[in-house]
Amino acid sequence: MNSHHLKSFIRCKRKAWLDFKGKKSYEVWSAQKAIDKVNQFQIFSKLCNGEIYTGLKAIKKGYKGVIGLKIKGKFFQNINAEIRPQLLLKTKGISKWGEYQYLPAVYKLGRKTTKEHLYDLAFSSILLGSFQESAIEKGLVISSFGKKVNVEEIYLNKKLRKKVLNVLFDLNDCLKGFMPEITQDRKKCTICSWQKFCDEEAKENGYLTDIDGIGFKTASLLKTNGITNTQTLASYSEKQLGDKLSIFRDQKYEKASVFVKQAKAYISGEPSCISDKNVTKDLLEKTSSGFYVFDIESNPDEKHNFLYGFLKINNLFTKNEDLIYEPILNLKNNKGESYRQIIEILLSHKEWPVLHYGETEKIATINIAKNLNFSFEEIDSLTSRFIDLHTLIRKSWVLPLKNYGLKTVSNWLGFEWEQKNASGSKALYWWIQYQITGNEIFLKKIIQYNKDDCLATLKITEYLIKNQLKKN
Ligand code: SF4
Repeated sequence: MNSHHLKSFIRCKRKAWLDFKGKKSYEVWSAQKAIDKVNQFQIFSKLCNGEIYTGLKAIKKGYKGVIGLKIKGKFFQNINAEIRPQLLLKTKGISKWGEYQYLPAVYKLGRKTTKEHLYDLAFSSILLGSFQESAIEKGLVISSFGKKVNVEEIYLNKKLRKKVLNVLFDLNDCLKGFMPEITQDRKKCTICSWQKFCDEEAKENGYLTDIDGIGFKTASLLKTNGITNTQTLASYSEKQLGDKLSIFRDQKYEKASVFVKQAKAYISGEPSCISDKNVTKDLLEKTSSGFYVFDIESNPDEKHNFLYGFLKINNLFTKNEDLIYEPILNLKNNKGESYRQIIEILLSHKEWPVLHYGETEKIATINIAKNLNFSFEEIDSLTSRFIDLHTLIRKSWVLPLKNYGLKTVSNWLGFEWEQKNASGSKALYWWIQYQITGNEIFLKKIIQYNKDDCLATLKITEYLIKNQLKKN
């Protein structure tokens, strides 16, 4: 077992097992993991003023920062273990190398120091202590806020070491046993490299958490009421189910209706229309004389929107290859020029609606307009043109899908991204690569990705409009 397994185990027992014994061909490359690694290296490098080297030689030479070292050892009852400290930071002390020693350090992405960070440091300290022949009292959690590197000292007291030993014993048992169940808290799965593998099993077994809107708590509530899988859920009447959902108070029948319809759609593979108020009629009328599709790529950690993409649609029946796509890059986050271009586009067809998927684009436009000192009325008239297709599709259709994300819905409608396995996190990864290398190939990839996002949004628009036309 190693530090990576420990980290996975804290998140999900099954993930640790799969990392250890799973078939690697089922694992999917994770852009998020790659982004973390790049960020991690940049922050560590800044902390060490660039004096960062790899391997045992670097330790013997006493460099300030050392990465990429694997240290093997044994702990209690001769259990083999290996640590892979993210960073070893040189500090005062005595070790077998001379008048210095190393402390283990881990990188933290958000603001919260979690069990993962603490246990990783405590585990590292156990093997690193014997490796360098000097006791380790503390570890470091490294993060960055804005441009500043932040170092938090963690005292590795007896209580924490005892806790981590207990977890290591459990991990050891888990790795020797059968594959654990899929985690109940499926939110954890969204950034996991085994998600695809686990999703297939969950669908086969009719897991309730596969139903949109059903999380861990609702699934437990349904189970205590004898509803253990999607098949059973789909067989309930809305009234029957609503009576069991008193926890949702006056929303109980509304919720029950959505859950039952969603379960039925998921099993049958058939969508069902739920809007009787012609929610989409408005869309048909508004878009008839032309519209924009708008999509933004951003780096949320840096609060930087680096690409604004517009697709201009004069007529819904124009072929995709004849549509005009306009990307506006904001490479240096100097808002002036890109803001001016965005407003220019939006005001060039004042009567056109702006279609987007999710809230980001509208919020960003409000901020741009405020930044450019637009009056309240001007902001209102601009943003009243925005139509969020994500909200619209949820209000009008129950789809046979696990979620209503842009990728899931448009893939179901047959849309394919030109670049295989593209995703928002992959676009962010390309952006980070562009910033490091300056290689324009990454910008091209991001622009292609954004254009496809716009086209995917258009595909959903077409679906809504075509079905509206059928109703008329
Ligand atoms: S996808 Fe979910 S259940 Fe499967 S290993 Fe990852 S976190 Fe665990």
